[in-house]
Amino acid sequence: MNSERSQRIGNGHGEKVKGGVRKKSGLAHRKSLNDSLEGEVKAFLLDEGQLHTYDDLTKVNPVTPTTVLKCLQARYRAKVFYTHAGCTLVALNPFQPVPDLYSLDVMKEYHCAPQPQESKPHIFIVAEEAYRNVQGQVEPVNQSLVVSGESGAGKTWTSRCLMKYYATVAASSSLMKSQDTVERIEKRVLDSNPIMEAFGNACTLRNSNSSRFGKYIQLQLNRSQLLVGASVQTYLLEKTRVAGQPVNERNFHIFYQMMTGGSDEQRREWKMSHDQHFAWLPNAEKTLEEDCFDETVEAMVHLGINAEKQGHIFRILAGLLQLGNVIFCSAMDESQPCDLEEKSKDFMHRCASLLCVPVEELQTCLRVRTLRAGKQSALFKPCSLADCSVRRDCLAKVIYAQLFEWLVTFINDSICADNSTWCNFIGLLDVYGFECFQFNNLEQLCINYANEKLQQHFVAHYLKAQQECLLNRASDAKQFRVRLEKELSDNGSMSWDKFSKQPHFTVAHYAGKVSYQIEGMMEKNKDPVPPELIHLLQKSENPLLHQLFADRDPVGQGTRGLRQVVTVVSKFKNSLENLMKILHSTTPHYTRCIKPNTDCRPLTFKKEEVIMQLEACGIVETIHISAAGFPIRIPYTSFTQRYGLISNLTLFRQGAGEQGLEADNKEALGSAVADILRVVLSHTLDASRHIDNEARSSLV
Ligand code: ADP
Ligand code: MG
Repeated sequence: MNSERSQRIGNGHGEKVKGGVRKKSGLAHRKSLNDSLEGEVKAFLLDEGQLHTYDDLTKVNPVTPTTVLKCLQARYRAKVFYTHAGCTLVALNPFQPVPDLYSLDVMKEYHCAPQPQESKPHIFIVAEEAYRNVQGQVEPVNQSLVVSGESGAGKTWTSRCLMKYYATVAASSSLMKSQDTVERIEKRVLDSNPIMEAFGNACTLRNSNSSRFGKYIQLQLNRSQLLVGASVQTYLLEKTRVAGQPVNERNFHIFYQMMTGGSDEQRREWKMSHDQHFAWLPNAEKTLEEDCFDETVEAMVHLGINAEKQGHIFRILAGLLQLGNVIFCSAMDESQPCDLEEKSKDFMHRCASLLCVPVEELQTCLRVRTLRAGKQSALFKPCSLADCSVRRDCLAKVIYAQLFEWLVTFINDSICADNSTWCNFIGLLDVYGFECFQFNNLEQLCINYANEKLQQHFVAHYLKAQQECLLNRASDAKQFRVRLEKELSDNGSMSWDKFSKQPHFTVAHYAGKVSYQIEGMMEKNKDPVPPELIHLLQKSENPLLHQLFADRDPVGQGTRGLRQVVTVVSKFKNSLENLMKILHSTTPHYTRCIKPNTDCRPLTFKKEEVIMQLEACGIVETIHISAAGFPIRIPYTSFTQRYGLISNLTLFRQGAGEQGLEADNKEALGSAVADILRVVLSHTLDASRHIDNEARSSLV
């Protein structure tokens, strides 16, 4: 394998220099496997001075974490941010704008290149390959672009670049509707980004514009390969953020945008005095680039969210901010509901007025539990002080999550093409990367599960079969732990810290070990909303708020008529399974974003941090396997059509040596073997994803 790689490096790729290769001027060339089947075998040693010229990490020899790291570092220093790693594209985050890297001219260059894969590594190669593949050799094949990496690595940026690329090269001006009212479809598709980012992104310690939800967007193409629409699916919005943020982090951007961008008149309407402090808006003094209210509003207008609807949305959001300032205190008489702190009475009034619900009822349902006793009668029980705050937060979370869902539906209605007008799609997947914090709970479990699924690494079979049943039935942490322990004692990927005071279990994920707290996990999974709160919201005179909850069954979590227990995990698992089905039916393209330093500093490459990310995604193994044959998937029908001729070759005739082959056949053989290798090795790659690190390293 090594000698084959060495040969590829030194043969035809560029001018040979001592111990390495000098890149040809202009576009660098990637060497095809076919060429490598011929020529002499030469040992190759790394020449550090030339490391930045390696466009494909499969050409580095030997492939070790150190050499791969050195190569990436050399390229980063040389301000080269994209590198192939066989079938994966590695994207290093520059953390500063790179002039002309994504300009219209560059898009054109890649779009018009006869062989884009021979051009300098770029995200546009991936984009263009997918665009050309969608036509298929026999029949059209849907494509998916999977962008992964840890928070702040550049996934969302990359997805935006990809969307802009398609909105440019696949623009269909003929589809322009009446220009005055509705923007062109490409513009509308792009405009979905600022809206979803305003409502779904927030400043975290890792990324000042961190997406707090997963997103899969399908760009719909017609027979002429023009972009005619798109549909968006979102996953697991981190709604807890609306009612509480980790230290030094912020709430969703939209709230800050309202604060900095709202006019005096709007602020009056939102009942926000100029100097009002909001408990749920920490770090408001930190103004970010993302605090651009005008851009969000403009995008809303383009997508058809008119001024009236915007008014409803912003009043709801303003109501939530007032709600966050409400503080409860114990009542003198303990049998009575909790009191409100003096100042909080005013906040409660403002909140009720903005949400258009009766203030008395709002106060009651935050402080008193209604217990149904038979069909007619009800018992009322004052909530504890802690419960009052839980209810307040719950109200905010359920409203925000529902509003986000409504926005996504609205966006889809605005950008989704009619079924008869599109025939193929290119899907872009931008999901949160693997997460491991000091304290990890259900959110991290779901996110890391999604990552496992995405990389097809089934190290933790327990999640598939047991998670729902276990989480739903066990009634407390101890019982849950006992069940888990019993049922999963044979699972080598799980472990317990039996002596820990805080019950937790540890899962050896593909990307590393993560300990999950059991405390609160079942509650998060059930995510209960007191029925009184839903009843209240159904009475709202804010038409949008009313609409958000009109169909909701206050007792079950589903819509009316479909009463079933929908837990967070079951919902997430279903949508993930649907996603996997879609992904399996498409040709995937992988881009791995790497964050060169955790401080988001421009052009700073921290070796220890990068190596951890390379290890977490198994990039070195991917390179090894890719180096042996550039795995590319070819649909079976197209494969047999192209290579059916092989069955007629004399090659498999008993005793026939190379000399026995016809010259034409020899050429066909060269290309066929290369392609067979690709197919076989892509399966090897898949198979290798099912086995753990140790087994993988012995494989390579
Ligand atoms: P993720 O979605 O992986 O959490 P983002 O895509 O939001 O990360 O990227 C984080 C930040 O890094 C962006 O806000 C931007 O400032 C910077 N960034 C990412 N990719 C690039 C790039 N290709 N060029 C310049 N800056 C980038
Ligand atoms: Mg993101």
